[in-house]
Amino acid sequence: MAGLCAALAAARCGARTVLMHERPVLGGNASGECRVHICGADQHGARPDARETGIIEELLLKNLAVNPQRSYSVWDTVLYEAARYQRNLSLLLNCSCHSARVDGARIASVTGWQLTTQKTIEVEAQLFADCSGDGIAAPIAGAEARRGREGRDEFGESLAPQTPDDKTMGMSCLFCARPTDRPQPFTPPAWAYTFEKPEDLPHRRPGNLECGYWWIELGGDGDSIADTEETRDELLRIVYGIWDHLKNHGDYGAENWVLDWVQFLPGKRESRRLVGDHLLCQADIESGGRFPDTVAYGGWSMDQHPPGGFWHSGRPAEFGEVPDVYGIPLRSLYSRNVENLWMAGRNASCTHVGMSSTRVMGTGALMGQAIGTAAACAAGKGLTPRECSSGQAIRSIQQRLMADDCYLPGLRRDFGDLTRRAALSASTGDPEPLRDGVNRQVHQDDHSWHGRPGDWIECRWDSPQEIRSVTVAFDSNLSGQISLSYHSPGNRCTSTPEELAKEFSIQAEIDGQWRPVHSEDDNRLRFRTLTFDDVKASAIRLVPQATHGSEEVRVFTLAVNEPPPESFE
Ligand SMILES: Cc1cc2nc3c(=O)[nH]c(=O)nc-3n(C[C@H](O)[C@H](O)[C@H](O)COP(=O)(O)OP(=O)(O)OC[C@H]3O[C@@H](n4cnc5c(N)ncnc54)[C@H](O)[C@@H]3O)c2cc1C
Repeated sequence: MAGLCAALAAARCGARTVLMHERPVLGGNASGECRVHICGADQHGARPDARETGIIEELLLKNLAVNPQRSYSVWDTVLYEAARYQRNLSLLLNCSCHSARVDGARIASVTGWQLTTQKTIEVEAQLFADCSGDGIAAPIAGAEARRGREGRDEFGESLAPQTPDDKTMGMSCLFCARPTDRPQPFTPPAWAYTFEKPEDLPHRRPGNLECGYWWIELGGDGDSIADTEETRDELLRIVYGIWDHLKNHGDYGAENWVLDWVQFLPGKRESRRLVGDHLLCQADIESGGRFPDTVAYGGWSMDQHPPGGFWHSGRPAEFGEVPDVYGIPLRSLYSRNVENLWMAGRNASCTHVGMSSTRVMGTGALMGQAIGTAAACAAGKGLTPRECSSGQAIRSIQQRLMADDCYLPGLRRDFGDLTRRAALSASTGDPEPLRDGVNRQVHQDDHSWHGRPGDWIECRWDSPQEIRSVTVAFDSNLSGQISLSYHSPGNRCTSTPEELAKEFSIQAEIDGQWRPVHSEDDNRLRFRTLTFDDVKASAIRLVPQATHGSEEVRVFTLAVNEPPPESFE
């Protein structure tokens, strides 16, 4: 998700971009090949109003609109469509990056082998981003990297082991199963492990039958890159052993269930972390990470798994509390020694403890959007990633991210002239929060206008203005869980959130008359920028006419002729 969001952001911000991706489907661990559900700072909805916005929110809401049946192939298609039909973006699927041409401290090109065409493809570029999870830029371009766990003293991390080691978290193979209407026998393969009684699985309780168990995990004791093939073999022995246990060695209600899918490409949690100018650590996370170059945020707990994984007799994970969302600096998202290299996702510059929180995919997606946006800025201005982390460049990047509906803790968006000068009014309620620069509720601060369907909000100027665009951020309930998951729906949303505005119109006052200039009857997205040709109006109104179910409608942003405050092109 980090790489996809990076590529989309760069392309949308005007940079000609290539996404080289080694698999047939996008999304990494979130794809149909691995089926890990995307989590983030909201900790499964436990932290209110904390869900990630920006590109990841757009993709998840699009998925809800077309995929109520919760099909991973449909989700794969949502991601494919986003990349394949994005202007400025060339998508190279099935293309595995295996080498780089390095010129001094810079990467000049990277080369990949495309499985389907048997072509070797070399891509030359000004800037590169490594979002490969395993940090491919380390072996092929000499990017400085770390592996394993820092000792407690190096960064003062109480959650780190006393002494450093080279162990990591492991990798997993999940499975999916489905119920049928009659008993279904299961004979395990001869090579599967046998778990006869629950005591064979200490601290590990098979619960839901639908989507496998994250604690079927191995590989942290060895080399989580070089040993992957052997580790997969062992994981499959455990997966089939657990399914045998559920079917044949206890009362789990699994009699009518059948295995539907088994993950053959292990999903990885940890291997290399590329080193940037800053290594995000436990103290940064606990103190809220207020950096001058904050470009993303996290909030998942510091969730460390023992390297022994499944065979570790203690608990399969230890959770360190993260008191609030925390900022992630741009300095953790570019390489310290390779001058034109960005990184995002689990290979970003963090300590082991730091990445135990940042590794979730909602957070990775935000880092990705941040480096894609920053890369477009750097390309447009001829800057290195390091030069983007201070001065006017970082302010432009932060403002552009917020203009694209990203939330940056502690920062506010600046609006352009027309939004600032408008006299705001509304048929009900106070509309001023719409331009306070914060696009979501933060603790008790509402930052929104509330009304009922049919109410309106107005921006008025002293004289007619040329209206080129109107940008709106509606409420999509950032406390809800909307990512695709095979877990029982429970409190997960499997269709468009009911809070979201379904029908709305934009009206313009032209020569003293109100005229509709845009209307929609089935909106499914939170963040909309509507563009206009030839509209000169003394006022505009947003009229939300219906929601997807709620009685109240809520809007966080209403802006005119935005973004970008500053274009990178
Ligand atoms: C079983 C399991 C459960 C987890 N649970 C959760 C969870 O519930 N929620 C959550 O958010 N996170 C969870 N995680 C963690 C999360 O999945 C990872 O930390 C996350 O996938 C990292 O994202 P990424 O984008 O950095 O890397 P990845 O998702 O690994 O994506 C990297 C992409 O780069 C591609 N790539 C790699 N090398 C190359 C190359 N040389 N050339 C071209 N392309 C390449 C890969 O094919 C892949 O698509 C879990 C992980 C596991 C294994």
